[in-house]
Amino acid sequence: MFKKDEYFVLILGLDNAGKTTYLEQTKTKFTKNYKAMNPAKITTTVGLNIGKIDIGPVRLNFWDLGGQEELQSLWDKYYAESHGVIYIIDSSDRERVDESKEAFEKMIQSEVLLGVPLLVLANKQDLKNCMSTSEVKQAFHDSAQKIGKRDCKVLGVSALNGDGVHEGIEWLKQCVE
Ligand code: GDP
Repeated sequence: MFKKDEYFVLILGLDNAGKTTYLEQTKTKFTKNYKAMNPAKITTTVGLNIGKIDIGPVRLNFWDLGGQEELQSLWDKYYAESHGVIYIIDSSDRERVDESKEAFEKMIQSEVLLGVPLLVLANKQDLKNCMSTSEVKQAFHDSAQKIGKRDCKVLGVSALNGDGVHEGIEWLKQCVE
């Protein structure tokens, strides 16, 4: 029987970054007749949200993990099974940029994830006064030096209105394939 090529992608980032909204938006964009959750009803991830999409013969399975500090220690339990990582930053939350950067650095320094493609999303670009994608890049500048050899892309997105979602997923798909 025809079998799909299956890959596993982690969605990481601090709580409130927009991980669950991004996963919902991804499912909406890539699944025919998908009934999206009302964004107002989405609550922050505690534990794990899962989702999958099919792009031609490729199946991407997503694990959206809780971002609260006490849940970050669970992230590395999933690293060994992951083919790709999406790291989401709330561009409107300047106060937590350093906290997000810390969690990001810890993640990229994991040996298990070495070489695994990384999509970094500067989310909530629809909000006025949020950091632009280049400001987010600048804030993460020293972390970028530690990324090592792997495919990496930084993209400004809005998980809420869907801007940039398609482009990022297509990029990640061709990296993991
Ligand atoms: P999670 O904790 O990372 O899973 O974050 P959620 O997906 O629960 O989102 C946290 C809050 O941010 C919710 O109120 C979302 O509606 C909001 N949010 C998520 N993405 C965006 C975005 O792109 N733009 C705006 N304006 N709000 C967003």
